[in-house]
Amino acid sequence: MTQRYVDVSIPPPLARELTYRLPSYLEPAVQRGSVVLVPVQGRLLTGIVIGELNHLDGIDPAKIKEVSQIVDSDTLLDPKLVDLCRWVAEYYLAPLGAALGAALPPGIQLASTRLVHLRTSRGGSINVVSDRVIEELRKESPLKVSTLERRLGRSGLEATLRHLRLGGQVEIVPFLKGPPIRHERCVKLTDGRRAEEALKELPARAHRKAAFLKHMLQCESTSRKSLAEQGFSSALVSGFAKIGLVENFQREALRDPLAHIEPVEDEQYDLSSAQKLVVDALIEAADTRQFYPSLLHGVTGSGKTLVYIRTVGHVLALGRSAIVLVPEIALAWQTVRRFKAEFGDRVAVLHSQLSPGERYDTWRRLRRGNQSVVIGARSAIFAPMVDLGVIIVDEEHDGSYKQEDLDGRQALAYNGRDVAMVRGRREDALVLLGSATPSLESYHNARTGKYHYLSLPQRVDSRPLPQVTVVDMHLEPFQRKRRAIFSGELRLKIRERIDRGEKIVLLQNRRGFSPILLCTSCGEAIECKRCRVTLTYHRHSGGSMRCHYCDFRGPVPATCDHCGAADLQFEGIGTQQVEEVLMEQFPGVRVIRMDVDSTTTKGSHDELVERFRRGEADVLLGTQMVAKGLDFPEVTLVGVISADTAMHMPDFRAAERSFQLLTQVAGRSGRGSARGQVVIQTLLSDSPVLQEAARQDYDAFAQREMQVRDEAGFPPYSRLVVFLWQGSDESAVSRAATKGTAQLNSLLAGSDRVLGPATAPLACLRNQHRWHSLLCSATPKNIHGIAQAALPPMRQIARAENVALSVNVDPLSMM
Ligand code: ADP
Ligand code: ZN
Repeated sequence: MTQRYVDVSIPPPLARELTYRLPSYLEPAVQRGSVVLVPVQGRLLTGIVIGELNHLDGIDPAKIKEVSQIVDSDTLLDPKLVDLCRWVAEYYLAPLGAALGAALPPGIQLASTRLVHLRTSRGGSINVVSDRVIEELRKESPLKVSTLERRLGRSGLEATLRHLRLGGQVEIVPFLKGPPIRHERCVKLTDGRRAEEALKELPARAHRKAAFLKHMLQCESTSRKSLAEQGFSSALVSGFAKIGLVENFQREALRDPLAHIEPVEDEQYDLSSAQKLVVDALIEAADTRQFYPSLLHGVTGSGKTLVYIRTVGHVLALGRSAIVLVPEIALAWQTVRRFKAEFGDRVAVLHSQLSPGERYDTWRRLRRGNQSVVIGARSAIFAPMVDLGVIIVDEEHDGSYKQEDLDGRQALAYNGRDVAMVRGRREDALVLLGSATPSLESYHNARTGKYHYLSLPQRVDSRPLPQVTVVDMHLEPFQRKRRAIFSGELRLKIRERIDRGEKIVLLQNRRGFSPILLCTSCGEAIECKRCRVTLTYHRHSGGSMRCHYCDFRGPVPATCDHCGAADLQFEGIGTQQVEEVLMEQFPGVRVIRMDVDSTTTKGSHDELVERFRRGEADVLLGTQMVAKGLDFPEVTLVGVISADTAMHMPDFRAAERSFQLLTQVAGRSGRGSARGQVVIQTLLSDSPVLQEAARQDYDAFAQREMQVRDEAGFPPYSRLVVFLWQGSDESAVSRAATKGTAQLNSLLAGSDRVLGPATAPLACLRNQHRWHSLLCSATPKNIHGIAQAALPPMRQIARAENVALSVNVDPLSMM
């Protein structure tokens, strides 16, 4: 028989692929996608089998180590997912192990503890070490390998254990520290016929015993907990166990993180004619069981969720499964409830606020096909679905689908929305991207025929879109020598709603009290010393200055850092200040503030939303969180305190983001029978983006902005890769960036270009200086070729300068 060899991918931090020999006793169990334990540099690590080798290609077989164990035959990664991860790693220029890590349930990678069990103390002595191992195990078995190491020393231990295992004297079992599998105590009948006979022979007065036996004959096995709940005493059950009629056993109990969610009333709406057209097209596509990429462009309040639900329903009826991606699960409980109302226990959620155990159990339920709809944030795109039929990406324009962090420590900067398309193609599934304000990339793909374009141009029941007023804050009289926070118009409209008992949403996309503390003497602002960005004043807990990038917190300074003058003045408006002024100007108004600071604990966001729904407040005030997806029919006024916050960002997507935010928040107004109004306050009232957002005219915005992108050579007319260098020594960072960028430049062809190197807009974060370069190409193939070829020498240069280099394909953040 030929020896089998497998390639195993080890997740970060090691992030390597290594070859191992497959011992014969593991042969039948191990396949592509198996999670295994392998020896690496004297440790055992978890890895994923990614393929089998036919020949060794020059590797010396003597140097190849053996796969130690298979971790858990249940946690097998579907080979299709292994392939998807391979694509993701290649496309995003990331280690394969990082992509596979995203696809595995969290916590599974911890296992490297091994337990040694004594099977028999007989068997010849091999050496001194083996005698001592057996002696230790006789006193106590099993023992961790690390315990034996501590007691006996490392020398010769591994080899001895291997011998003892081969000789059958010990068994070595990996001990999973990872997600705790929860067990419940159960009982089952040992023999049905005996139980029936016992039942007949019971004396007439033994009611409880008879009831118990009848119950057991019906269900065969059940948990002791549920028996106790039905009033069968523990003594009674144990009595039957003693005479051997039932036996105790342990069964895995899968945790259900959705158990506490109360579904909303099932809404049995008839589809509107526009919804019906869209759903019919999707259903027809689903029936072909082919890849069907599509964009659902539906204005706010057009009933996209119902389209999702009907489409998913059809796909489930075909026996297939569904993934529903949402930007952030914390903002999507309304959607989860609606799905839960329709599909009940078939719905699962996957998100980072679940405990590892809950996530692990959910993962396995999906893997076994016990649940067939998963709703989750971007990483749910890797969910182990059985026969995936549809992927829905709600609010597809949302930036949180892209995994990227400012310091580039994330090894895998993927976009869940884009991976959805790739997975859908590979699994012959329908992919539906939905938004009222599609990203220009998706809009472009729809226009060029890459995606099917589906649209819901009107709100349900022909409700009108809200009527928007733009207020030029230059024309507003100052209040106490300061620019007013509320214009006369907005004040008037707020008053009206409060008097009529209607609800209001207010957006100010800045948290804290004042984002700038300015010295009126020298004109400098107080900055974070580690990040060189202005510190924000927070009024709560005695008042403090905070950095929104590194979370530094300090007292409010009395004098200017730069000139020492004591003329410091707060500038700019955060949500806390809006809240305070609102309560001053409208005594008795009930406000719920929703921003990062008020939603730090698990479930707090959902709780605030529910309080608002129950009518416990007149105003929901917050950052962009209030713009996302909320559906409250009672809201008839939306006010934007300052529309300008996002407009000045040093990013070619600043206009697109502003348009999306303003249109989305406006869309919260007038979703019920009363027409909604919106007041947008701005100092840039002439800006075309603002005008387009005020008219909620996506097409006009897209057409104009696409031309801007085309002229500048930016996406969707090109692809980008950002390279980011970071380090504590600025001259080393600039050297690495300069030399690294030269590597890129040497590979350019045609219209490809490199912008930079330059200091990043966020020039310093946590004392790390930041430089970046932008590789830009009209052809995706070129850009990958260049990046792939340039990366190895660039990494070498960075290492030599002791600088961290990260790479971000299709970046969303230009910071
Ligand atoms: P969108 O996500 O497009 O902004 P939603 O899916 O939240 O819109 O729907 C907006 C509102 O319209 C919801 O309250 C929903 O219950 C209601 N709705 C959706 N479809 C219908 C329909 N066919 N008939 C009546 N009401 C509907
Ligand atoms: Zn900072």
